[in-house]
Amino acid sequence: MFFFPFVGFASYDIIDDYEVYDIQKPLTIPITPKKEANINSDKTMFLTFDDGPLLGSNNIISVLQEENVKATMFMIGKHAQRSKYRKKTFKRAIKEPLILVANHTYSHADGRYKHFYSDKEALIEDINKMDQILMENDPNHNLPYCRLAGRNVWRLPKIIRNDAGIPKRYCENDKYDALSECGYKIFGWDYQWEYNPRSGKVYKTPQEIANTIEKIYKRGRTRKTGKFVLLMHDFSFRDKFGGKEQLRELITELKSLGWGFATVANYIKAKNCKIPYAYNTRQQKTTEH
Ligand SMILES: [Zn+2]
Repeated sequence: MFFFPFVGFASYDIIDDYEVYDIQKPLTIPITPKKEANINSDKTMFLTFDDGPLLGSNNIISVLQEENVKATMFMIGKHAQRSKYRKKTFKRAIKEPLILVANHTYSHADGRYKHFYSDKEALIEDINKMDQILMENDPNHNLPYCRLAGRNVWRLPKIIRNDAGIPKRYCENDKYDALSECGYKIFGWDYQWEYNPRSGKVYKTPQEIANTIEKIYKRGRTRKTGKFVLLMHDFSFRDKFGGKEQLRELITELKSLGWGFATVANYIKAKNCKIPYAYNTRQQKTTEH
């Protein structure tokens, strides 16, 4: 089958995996368990990692386990299906109780964002398709949390925000609304650990990022008081960038600044949340006589 390359970011060209990694087995229970640094009601950090499974994802999972820290990985369906290595990584993340694997679309728009956000039905279908993959790997998957491809959009109870960088003439807002009406809870981010789009390497040091986070927090410039959603990307944590050390250093800094950690499931009080089944409904409709 002909395969369309992922063209969303130039950096993906150089981030192909070669099955070189042996999946690390999840850590067994440590002899001296570290003190759990999770939810703290005053300062809760929501570490979010996008675009996996990719090289770098396993380093993230390992560090989260070592540090006993919760986080959310917004993963892409197409990436999860691409190779044995990625399938294993995807399953490893799903099995880890500290990690919430959430929906970051099936196709990530294949890099054609304007087109992707022009068709409401196709958009819903793409996101539903990722839910199907999540369900195949985790029969308990029932959380409607997603992050849109290439857009910092929020559609949560009391938080409705469009991506400031998208010109109004593109009229995408109704598409975000449609997803929200389906029941999806859409998460954007407060701040991004930015990277070089050619290499994927982050620009700033963990120390600089922690300092910036602290400044933003003190000025109250986050969507929710005391809650901070940090966006990072899996490919920034590859071995060649010292991924494990970078993430470990950031988490250590954040812990010392008094941050607790949670998954996006703790960001909102979503009662009776269930993933929307529009895709299934659509399939049924087309087969009905
Ligand atoms: Zn993405």
